[in-house]
Amino acid sequence: MDILPADYPPPFQPSDYVVPPAAGEDERLEVGVLIVGAGPAGLATAVRLGQLLGEDPELLEQLGEVPIAVAEKGKTSGSHLLSGAVMKPGPIQELFPDLTPDDIPHYGKVTGESVYFMRPKSKIRIPTPPQMKNHGNWVISISQMARWMAEQAEELGTFMLPETDCQKLIVDQGRVLGVVTGDKGRGKEGEELSQFEPGAELHAQVTVLAEGTPGHLTGVLRRHYDLDRGVTQSWELGVKEVWQVAKPLGKVIHTLGWPLRLRTKYREYGGSWIYPMGDDMVSLGYVIGLDYADATLSAHDVLQEFKTHPMVREILAGGKRLAWGAKTIPGGGLYGLPSRLHVPGAVMVGDSAGFVDMMALKGVHLAIKSGMIAAESIYAALKEGKATAAAGLWGYTKGIQDSSVWKELWKVRNIRPAFQKGFIYGGMIHGMATASFGHAPRKPVKSKTDAKEPVFVGSRQGAYPAADGEYIFDKLSSVFASGNATRDDQPNHIRLQREVPVSLATTWVYMCPAKVYEIDEDGPQNGTVNVKINPSNCVQCGAITAKGGRLTPPEGGSGPEYTIT
Ligand SMILES: Cc1cc2nc3c(=O)[nH]c(=O)nc-3n(C[C@H](O)[C@H](O)[C@H](O)COP(=O)(O)OP(=O)(O)OC[C@H]3O[C@@H](n4cnc5c(N)ncnc54)[C@H](O)[C@@H]3O)c2cc1C
Ligand code: SF4
Repeated sequence: MDILPADYPPPFQPSDYVVPPAAGEDERLEVGVLIVGAGPAGLATAVRLGQLLGEDPELLEQLGEVPIAVAEKGKTSGSHLLSGAVMKPGPIQELFPDLTPDDIPHYGKVTGESVYFMRPKSKIRIPTPPQMKNHGNWVISISQMARWMAEQAEELGTFMLPETDCQKLIVDQGRVLGVVTGDKGRGKEGEELSQFEPGAELHAQVTVLAEGTPGHLTGVLRRHYDLDRGVTQSWELGVKEVWQVAKPLGKVIHTLGWPLRLRTKYREYGGSWIYPMGDDMVSLGYVIGLDYADATLSAHDVLQEFKTHPMVREILAGGKRLAWGAKTIPGGGLYGLPSRLHVPGAVMVGDSAGFVDMMALKGVHLAIKSGMIAAESIYAALKEGKATAAAGLWGYTKGIQDSSVWKELWKVRNIRPAFQKGFIYGGMIHGMATASFGHAPRKPVKSKTDAKEPVFVGSRQGAYPAADGEYIFDKLSSVFASGNATRDDQPNHIRLQREVPVSLATTWVYMCPAKVYEIDEDGPQNGTVNVKINPSNCVQCGAITAKGGRLTPPEGGSGPEYTIT
């Protein structure tokens, strides 16, 4: 019998996370525009809005004491950010027209690149697909860039609220009024500990959801406003390491093939990146589509296996791992976007909406551009006094549809869904779509969400190399390298069914890069098993939301402490 993760939905009701306003006027924090998430999308929104309000003192005054606020669940901006990352620099330069590239933190321009098809001991260089051409793009650390962007936003008058997990949407008469933030200092059973502090209501004229992937409040909002009809979102999981290296790498590398298996029955889609971060560091990672079939596939361990290739050994020789992290990417492209990008009182930007070009492995420039379009649309709506009207934020949806963001996603819309049907079909559609600049095929290629693909217990785990603590790492030492600072005695923030078929439980055990799930290895090989959860290991990558469970934000300030990912 096929086991589909979607048949074992988590005990999670989106409607429990939509609440009416309850706090009195003197108990809530009123802000002009509230941005949830200090990633590139949220911070670009804050910066652009700050620039526009800086030239409009009258409107600034009308927005009150706190015209723009950014709530971020991480300890600081950038703490929860991880990306490859090679960035298309156009939007960030557009956002800061008075700055030179040297003023913006990055590790230089890409000057050389190679794409390889990998075999266990050898590699074949293949022509670089047009979407993966990177000459002139910049290598960055998204965590560092976000910290810098947050400083720029603060200089323009943004109020930063770090360690603030936004848990619930406040909706009144069909309009989003803001969010409720989480309590701090609760124990495992939800009891109040000595350091307890209750959450608060944040009210705003406009709320911008810039939560990235897989967006807790975004998921709640999309369901509440029924924005997902006919939409198929899917996710990829990326695991990354930053290494100090002895020799400069000098070029950007992408690979396909080994260690992934190309046979259609495994549905293993993905590849690696290796990017130079200056002369003495490299960013190295592996991305895997979460629609895979073999329960024993582990993105964490595939990256370790990939490091045993002679090419990678040569690059990392004499080096040392400096950082590790994991995060999902929304991969559905145009077909994964909600039916509109605004609702009364709120808009979605960046990965929250699903603006990633998976063929290029790029979302940072789309996040920034969408944030700028959001800021300009919100400013126009505020100026015309329409921001709180039912269709007042329509300008944002329209602005995106008319923008470079939409055009880029449109061209590649059929490629990722086609790879769900295997490497050969995917390759064919890739060729067709690329040659026709996206015009062919005209009919949408249909795909399924990750949780609707069946899973079986295969034997992938036999290939993973044993950890030595210096070059090959196990999951627990990787979690340590992420700087994870979650209290052990916090309430569990992961929602999933605890008694599930062995193949689903095994999927979760291997999928989670942070060793959050455990099952009794000597337990039954068939039937159902009990899943044990260690929530404090969680690095909030979001993969569980794609494959049958649900990640909710834990207490603000917990989770990883990324600094150079
Ligand atoms: C492995 C990997 C490799 C990638 N490689 C590249 C690349 O090379 N080039 C490229 O251009 N793109 C790449 N991307 C994609 C790119 O990183 C994203 O598209 C981009 O970071 C999206 O920005 P964002 O601001 O929308 O979301 P994010 O960067 O995810 O930021 C969202 C922020 O919101 C916060 N948040 C979320 N929920 C809440 C809440 N409820 N309350 C408070 N705070 C919240 C999070 O903590 C986070 O700080 C990669 C992504 C991954 C995962
Ligand atoms: S438990 Fe946390 S780290 Fe593990 S898969 Fe789920 S979200 Fe990712």
